[in-house]
Amino acid sequence: MKFDTAYCLSLDAKLSIYDVRDLNFDETMAFDSAKERFQCPNDACRAAFDEGNRLTTFNAKNINYIRTPHFKNQPTTQHIEGCPYVSPKTPGLDAQSVEADDDREEHFPSELLLTRRQYVRKPSDPSKDVEAATRPTSPTLSSHGDNAHSAQDSTPDKTSVFAHPVECFVSNFADKDLLKRKPLKIGEHTAPYASFFKKIEYLQDNKGLIYWGKIKEIKDYTLSFRIDFEAKVWSKHPDEAKKKPYSVTVYLSKKLIDNYRKRKAFLAEIKHAIDSDAPLYCFFYGVTPELKQVPSKKNPEETFGVFSANIENLDHFIIREAPGLAEG
Ligand SMILES: [Zn+2]
Repeated sequence: MKFDTAYCLSLDAKLSIYDVRDLNFDETMAFDSAKERFQCPNDACRAAFDEGNRLTTFNAKNINYIRTPHFKNQPTTQHIEGCPYVSPKTPGLDAQSVEADDDREEHFPSELLLTRRQYVRKPSDPSKDVEAATRPTSPTLSSHGDNAHSAQDSTPDKTSVFAHPVECFVSNFADKDLLKRKPLKIGEHTAPYASFFKKIEYLQDNKGLIYWGKIKEIKDYTLSFRIDFEAKVWSKHPDEAKKKPYSVTVYLSKKLIDNYRKRKAFLAEIKHAIDSDAPLYCFFYGVTPELKQVPSKKNPEETFGVFSANIENLDHFIIREAPGLAEG
């Protein structure tokens, strides 16, 4: 049984596994999922057991994952009868179908929020929290935080973590009908997953989509990383009669990476990509590469055309293995 969300005790909130990954890698936030306590997201079920009744995580801290991250039961985890998170499959199930179940992200967020979700850690023991005790508070407000904002539902079908819709697309790539049925909204634009994710070679079709493609090469320069895509864009220069193939490149500024709140994880992701022999794919949102004339290295007198863009927000950029994409 996979869980789309789990209740996190210290944050008093329901988190997706992608929220957890984001928090784990965020250097501005003290959070380690291995030390956090997660419980059933169903309020009634959670209330029926003590804090020892926990869920565990899969791929919460692995920077370069292939199999879909999720929350899962521990062998000892209990649920009340009727809890929607009780596995319909019973123990004794063969390992293979468990594997298959784990290999797809079934919870499609309907929207990628461009503003990051804020997490507030609740005091570890509110009764002993001097500051909280002396602060004048309305008598109707519970100091235990289990009334008003308790386990705020925080719109579970929305996410602010880019990796979540990307995992939906990657792990369900073979199921084209499903990707055509599921809608995704980003900003003002809504489209099915199947068309919101645009192959990089068709980037001229529409601006403001999630572009993706297989990486040809990553170059490590002094001030930036350069990612070249394998596929070419066929385009016609105004001075020319026919369409020609142009390379596509995106640049990542090292200054941007140095100021990134997930700097270490990001550098590990890109270093792994540079050293990897496995096919890698790049996904990004927020910029659309445009045709530019750049001077030729061999002959600076000459210029050549290339579709390029500078990545502006590292939260909306991913390099990863995605074996399922190779067939399509
Ligand atoms: Zn439950």
